[in-house]
Amino acid sequence: MSSVAALLEALGPTKVLTDAETLASRRHDYWMVSHLRDRFGGAAPAPACVLRPTSVADVQAIVRLAAKHGTPLLPFGLGSGVVGGVITGPETILLDMGSMTATRSVDPVNLLVTFDAGKNGLEAEQDMAAQGLTIGHWPQSIALSTVGGWIATRASGQFSTAYGNIEDIVYAIEAVLPDGSLVNLGKGPRASAGPDLRHIMLGSEGTLGVITGVTLSLRRAPERQALTAFAAKTMREGFEFQREIVQVGWRPPVMRQYDERESRRLHEDAADCTVIMVHEGPAGLVEAEVAAVTALAERMGLKALPDTIVTHWLGHRNHVAGWDQILGRTMVADTVEVSAPWDRIAEVYDAATKSVSEIPGCRASSAHSSHVYRSGLNLYFTFAIQLDSTDAMEAAYFEAWQRIMQATADCGGSVAHHHGIGRVRRDWMKTELGEGGARLLRSLKAAIDPKGIMNPGVMIPDA
Ligand SMILES: Cc1cc2nc3c(=O)[nH]c(=O)nc-3n(C[C@H](O)[C@H](O)[C@H](O)COP(=O)(O)OP(=O)(O)OC[C@H]3O[C@@H](n4cnc5c(N)ncnc54)[C@H](O)[C@@H]3O)c2cc1C
Repeated sequence: MSSVAALLEALGPTKVLTDAETLASRRHDYWMVSHLRDRFGGAAPAPACVLRPTSVADVQAIVRLAAKHGTPLLPFGLGSGVVGGVITGPETILLDMGSMTATRSVDPVNLLVTFDAGKNGLEAEQDMAAQGLTIGHWPQSIALSTVGGWIATRASGQFSTAYGNIEDIVYAIEAVLPDGSLVNLGKGPRASAGPDLRHIMLGSEGTLGVITGVTLSLRRAPERQALTAFAAKTMREGFEFQREIVQVGWRPPVMRQYDERESRRLHEDAADCTVIMVHEGPAGLVEAEVAAVTALAERMGLKALPDTIVTHWLGHRNHVAGWDQILGRTMVADTVEVSAPWDRIAEVYDAATKSVSEIPGCRASSAHSSHVYRSGLNLYFTFAIQLDSTDAMEAAYFEAWQRIMQATADCGGSVAHHHGIGRVRRDWMKTELGEGGARLLRSLKAAIDPKGIMNPGVMIPDA
């Protein structure tokens, strides 16, 4: 019996879908290259079936059957991944977690909430807001992604500088391992109980198991919000300003710095780099923080800008142009996020934007920072390249990625800040982890998933 027939027998036709429309809709995620191949040739084949489990027991049954038949199994959230973590083959069975969306429990005393992994991010946040609470995790894709996907890709939200990335917000993770067994990882607000096994699932990208439930640590909705914006004459000046703010101990949840090109997109007449901040928390803290960063800006020679720039950003922050518009102009474009310590970040910015700008046909090479730490920050590069022929598009796309990865690695940064590895960055994992780290990751995969059924070809570097 084929794996699809066995799944149909075990789960029934409402949970095992094989109609052409459903299969076509689940072939890949949001990675530009998959959209490019759909349009110009080389489209990913449809999976063998799409599974819509409604319980953890369903997921366990599916994983056991996949293991028994040695069939590739691909967990899917809402498909907003941007690095090629989801590409199906004709054998793949795709596990669509979007069918498991319950809010299992809310605990207002301990500020904990447990969701099924397929819960839509925006719906999760809105449910909590209705109770005066917030998750505080605002990826730009909040409406397009699941809480399980956040864990699987180690996601970052726009308010991360104060509230942390998903690894700082997660409390516990429930997952089905590739042998069908269920694990609950994380107990208590903190533990010194050996290695933190939640981190095996954080960033696992579907390769080490299926995340079925996620418990997050909530916050009370902030009492006060205030907005500030400043002009810095150079990126270096802006970086120094941000470094001073966080190293002194202030924590505006949103701190973003745009280079000149991106500043012009943010507000008309911008001639310099722009730093914007959202301050949130108890009223007294917000007032003190706004006074401190304003005084610091004055001392360091940055000019205060109207806070309407930040209001505008807040209103438009989740708008994204579709790939079709770009591909239709024989252009390739993408965003690439990396990180580096403070003393290297300007170098990474200069090297990567310059290197990409030298690619023939480059129409845009720019960056902003959006996640700040005591020891450094991220950069989020944007590139757009226009080609004469559709044949040259994929090569130009990979060339831009290669140049940003190389510039970052050469300057001592990390090649992936928050979108994950997928396929586009898999070859860079050896640079990131070193030979020893890559070997350790492969050993972990071999131990947990000896048959190699979970999302093959993604994240884990080849030997
Ligand atoms: C417009 C746009 C803006 C974005 N902005 C941000 C941002 O601000 N911050 C950020 O961090 N990311 C951002 N992303 C990237 C993306 O939204 C995140 O990576 C997100 O966490 C993916 O969630 P998903 O549910 O859509 O996962 P999918 O795309 O469905 O899957 C992503 C990967 O996770 C695996 N996976 C998904 N669910 C599970 C599960 N339950 N168990 C095991 N593995 C699973 C998949 O196999 C795949 O490898 C953005 C993407 C887009 C398109």
